[in-house]
Amino acid sequence: MTADIIQGKVISKELRQNIKNEIDAIKAKNPEFKPKLVVIQVGARPDSSTYVRMKLKSCKAVGIEGELRKYDSTIGEEELLKSVHELNEDTSVHGVLVQLPLPAHISEEKITDAVEQAKDVDGFSPLNMAAIFKRKAQPLQIPCTPKGVMYMLDHEKVVIDGKNVVVCGRSDIVGGPMAKLLEKRGGTVTIIHSKTTEEQKKFYCSNADIIVSAVGKVNFLRGDYVKPGAVIIDVGTNYVEDSTKKSGHRLVGDVDFESCREKASKITPVPGGVGPMTVAMVLHNLLEASKRAYGIE
Ligand code: NAP
Repeated sequence: MTADIIQGKVISKELRQNIKNEIDAIKAKNPEFKPKLVVIQVGARPDSSTYVRMKLKSCKAVGIEGELRKYDSTIGEEELLKSVHELNEDTSVHGVLVQLPLPAHISEEKITDAVEQAKDVDGFSPLNMAAIFKRKAQPLQIPCTPKGVMYMLDHEKVVIDGKNVVVCGRSDIVGGPMAKLLEKRGGTVTIIHSKTTEEQKKFYCSNADIIVSAVGKVNFLRGDYVKPGAVIIDVGTNYVEDSTKKSGHRLVGDVDFESCREKASKITPVPGGVGPMTVAMVLHNLLEASKRAYGIE
C-alpha cells in the first residue's frame, strides 16, 4: 500500500480563503468590523521572527489587522505582564498571541496565563485548557495545532469513533490537548511519552488506526511500527543538516516518511502538512474571537 498524502498546504489555503470570504462578507454588512491580532515578541530569535512574520502576513491576506509589539530581551516579567493587561483592556484588540519561547528570566506560564480567555487565540489559557478536559464544556479557543489536525482528519473523512488512536507526546500545547480532542471524538487513545518503553511503543503503535506524532525527534516513527492502512499525522518539526540546501539544513518531521508511506493509508508530509494548518487556525480563532466581541453569530 502507498498512502495518500494529506496536503495540509492545500487544505489550509482553502480554509484561509473561506476565512477571507467570511471576513469580507461581515465587513460588507458591518463596516465597523475590524478584527485585530497583536503578537508579542520578546528578543529577536530568527526562528521566532520568521513565525511572527508569517502570522502577520497571513493576517493581512485575509483582512485581519496584525500588530507586532516587539520588546528587547531584557524586558522584565512585570513590564511584560503590564503590556498583556493593557491589551486585555483594549477593546480594539481581539486576539493576543505571545510568541514562544520567552527568555529564561520570564515565566512563559505566567505570561500566557495572563492573556484574557476571550483573546487567547493560542488556546493556552487555563480556562480554555480546562474546558478541553471537561467532558461537556466548550472551550472558547482550541490550541491551533491540535485544532488544525482535527480539521485535517475531518477534511479527509477519517473516522475516529471506535478507533485505536496513539498520540506521541503529551505537552500542554500539542500532545495533551490533541489526545483529549481525539478521545472526545470517540477514539480510544493511548499516549506515548518519554517514559514509554520501546516494547510499549511498538505494541501500541502497531495496533493503532491513527497515529499523531508530536515529539520532536527525527525518525521517531518507522514503518515497521505501523499497522497497514493506518492514518499518520506528523506534527514534529526538526532540522537536519543538508549540504544541498542554501541554508545548510532541511525541515523534517518525526516520521520516517518513506517507510511509513508504504504501510499507511494516509500520511501528512513535512513540510506542507500540519504546519500550514496551525497558522490557518490562528486566523480562525481570531475570527471567532472578533465575531464574539462584535456580537456577530
Ligand atoms: P515538547 O513540549 O518538547 O514535548 C515533547 C513531547 O515528546 C513530551 O511529551 C515528551 O515526553 C515526548 N518525548 C520526548 N522524547 C520522547 C521519546 N524518546 N519517546 C517518547 N516520547 C518522547 O514539544 P511540543 O511543543 O509538544 O512539540 C512537539 C513537536 O511538534 C516539536 O517538534 C515541535 O517543533 C513540533 N510542533 C509543530 C507545530 C506545527 O505547527 N507543525 C506546532 C507545535 C509544535 P515527556 O512529557 O515525558 O517529557
